[in-house]
Amino acid sequence: MSVSNPPDLPPTPTSAQEIPPGTPCPRCGYDLAGLSPDGQCPECGGANRNALSPYRLANASPAFIKRLHFGAALTQVWVALAIASTITWRAVLLLAPGYSPTVWQYSPLFYICTELLRYVAWWLISSPDPSNPSLARRDKCRRTFRILLFANLIADAVFWLASLSRFYVYDFAIDTIATILFAASLIASMVYLRSLAHRIPSDRFHRRATIILRVSIVTVVVHLGASPLLTGFLFSFGLGNYFELSSLAYIISAAAMYLAYFFLLHLTRRELKNIQEQM
Ligand SMILES: [Zn+2]
Repeated sequence: MSVSNPPDLPPTPTSAQEIPPGTPCPRCGYDLAGLSPDGQCPECGGANRNALSPYRLANASPAFIKRLHFGAALTQVWVALAIASTITWRAVLLLAPGYSPTVWQYSPLFYICTELLRYVAWWLISSPDPSNPSLARRDKCRRTFRILLFANLIADAVFWLASLSRFYVYDFAIDTIATILFAASLIASMVYLRSLAHRIPSDRFHRRATIILRVSIVTVVVHLGASPLLTGFLFSFGLGNYFELSSLAYIISAAAMYLAYFFLLHLTRRELKNIQEQM
């Protein structure tokens, strides 16, 4: 008897491990079910081991995929609330310039609940895979996202405390820092979601996520700059409608930013759903 089996024969009964059903070859998509992890794909000759790499989301723990999917769904709920509150409040300011409460001043409970929802959702999305802690530690995109999330939470907590204790002098500076950290966390979450494309793997998802990321960076810059910079710019050039114009830029950029993010979350959920169905 020969030492090695020809690739077209089923694995020997003494084989310690077989590739589980529904495991496609990462190169050509051939179903490797029942073959040896040490063998080669009968279709393209690629190493079967690659299909079982823990890096691939299909081989991650099902609990991890479920958590990512739930986190993405929860983030979509937050995005819907954020669109509603940001645009509603800015529209109120635009229509009634004399009346200017922020969401925070008018409805602190709604504001804090929405913010807490965001932290929970982002915490879930940035969770490490418990079945592969070393891989989770090495994931720079995930770690950067978490660090920014922590920094954002601390800045927000300081802002909330400062607001409650009426130290208005510090409000603006802390609010600005918190807003910048929020924008950085938002972009970091998109970069992290895009990095999942390599683990799916899906070029199509990566391409679409890249477009969304670029659109978002532009909208974030416009959004952050809309109030202070655009207002100042229009004012210095004597354009009378500076408040209306900057409010409009603020609303449009916010809508574009949140809709782009919502779409990315939708694409992510669809990919995760496919992976769950094949598990
Ligand atoms: Zn193959």
